[in-house]
Amino acid sequence: MKIVVAKTAGFCMGVRRAVDMVLDASNLSQEPIYTYGPLIHNPQVLEMLEEKKIFRIDTIPEKGSGIVLIRAHGVPPEDEKALKDAGFTVINATCPRVVRVQVIIRKYAQKGYSTLIIGDQKHPEVVGLLGYAKGNGHTITSMAQLLALPRFKAAVVVAQTTQDTAFYDEIKVWCKTHAPHYKIFDTICGSTEKRQSEIRRLARENDAVIVVGGKQSGNTKRLAQIASMAGKLVTHIEDASQIDYKTLSSARSVAITAGASTPNWIINDACSKIETNLQKLHPIKAALFLLRDFLLKTNIMAAAGAGFLTYACSVLQQTAQSFHHALIAMLYVLSMQIINNLFTIKSDKYNHPQRALFYKKNRTYLWVLAVISGGAGLYLSFITGMLSFVILLVMSLLGLSYNLKLVPIISKKGQIARIKDIPGSKTILITLAWGTVTCLLPAVANHSDLMPVAVIFLFAAGLVFARTAFFDILAIQGDRITGKETLPILLGEKKSFDIIKYALIFNIGIIFLTVFTDLLVKRAFFLAFIPFIMLLLISFFEKDNLISGAHKEFIIESSFLATGLIAAVI
Ligand code: SF4
Repeated sequence: MKIVVAKTAGFCMGVRRAVDMVLDASNLSQEPIYTYGPLIHNPQVLEMLEEKKIFRIDTIPEKGSGIVLIRAHGVPPEDEKALKDAGFTVINATCPRVVRVQVIIRKYAQKGYSTLIIGDQKHPEVVGLLGYAKGNGHTITSMAQLLALPRFKAAVVVAQTTQDTAFYDEIKVWCKTHAPHYKIFDTICGSTEKRQSEIRRLARENDAVIVVGGKQSGNTKRLAQIASMAGKLVTHIEDASQIDYKTLSSARSVAITAGASTPNWIINDACSKIETNLQKLHPIKAALFLLRDFLLKTNIMAAAGAGFLTYACSVLQQTAQSFHHALIAMLYVLSMQIINNLFTIKSDKYNHPQRALFYKKNRTYLWVLAVISGGAGLYLSFITGMLSFVILLVMSLLGLSYNLKLVPIISKKGQIARIKDIPGSKTILITLAWGTVTCLLPAVANHSDLMPVAVIFLFAAGLVFARTAFFDILAIQGDRITGKETLPILLGEKKSFDIIKYALIFNIGIIFLTVFTDLLVKRAFFLAFIPFIMLLLISFFEKDNLISGAHKEFIIESSFLATGLIAAVI
């Protein structure tokens, strides 16, 4: 069965901006924080906000204190004033595209125009827009309603930003023919238009459509309606547990899309489960998907990648005992990754629900595996030499300090913090740790020359940095919500992608330059193929969403295995 994921699935700009604003306020302020109405129509996000002590108010009290965030839909101007008058500090997170519609309505209402809003009277955005119409606003959800209205002397016509574009086109045609003096504005958001035209196409091209998102979310429901109009089987779910796989069993292809208020970790989780369950009809594919998920969840894939990369570094340095060093790196990475995942079960509930469940269920076995692999790695480094052992011990303690208060660090608030509390530390720590075990440990054991080691360290660390920062981008929404300050959260997605690309280009450059020197063996040139492929893949993933997050992770992890394989044959 073919499964495609819509490129436009997930948070739109306005929703992402509002979520970011409320999380920033929660991280920076000690005051109570409220949202006026539900921030977005997604039950999982609302549950998470309550856990972060961000509550919602639905009515404005006479007196209040703290911060109130106005969500992306906006509110009538009198509500904003009433919130301020009550004593709240107001953060207005109305989407700039909604603000544009508010401005249009206010401008023409002041000139005496009537306002026709194509949208649901009860939708919060429409309620907010009506507030700018100076009491002369009318909402329309059908042609019959439009025809029932009197012909106004002067009227402005706008649409709710998430309206169905085909319906608005009908309205516009009628107005141009029967009321050419009406001023019509294209106010349907570009993001909505793209989402709707993509789902129309996907519904035509596939046998079934799964729409992921809150049952209360207007734009998500509209996606399901549009897909149904193509006569295809459509399922609207809030998460993967609600899918009836039997009804989908006859479909040869399934398209998955999501509303503008669906976070990407819910989409990724749903895609991964749908892929695995729907492929059960094809036992080999089902087994491969299960294997992929198992290797990723247990971190065996990451550990194998570290081992293969170490092998490549050892071959480049022409050191002895390549397999021995590869094994140490594998055991170290396996142990550290499992331990850190065990410490983050609670926050992973949001951004990696499947992994969180797996770690919760198998907590004891995973602790045993982590301790045994960590201990075995230390033992192997000990028999390699005292210096190797000390370096690995220090790296292990640093790895543990990521989640535990082992190393005294003073936070902004003057308290002892963990390494994880240092903004951006995760990407840097993993890069340094992997660089050390994959390159420095073999070099120390073999007393390698400094310059070749420095070049190989930059090569290994560059690849690991690109991998880790890319995974951080994939998890950016969940990390933000759970309070992790990864590099992409600090720098933004676009800058992070740029830095990843520069790191990989730098990596290709270093290997290329060594061809003209005697620093490395000449055939090391072939390893430049790996950063080159990663550069192409990450650039493709940046633009394209048709591949699920689990696939992307697996493909990038696989490139580390390729590093070792290339080193084995050159
Ligand atoms: S759908 Fe468009 S207008 Fe509405 S919040 Fe998202 S970006 Fe803004």
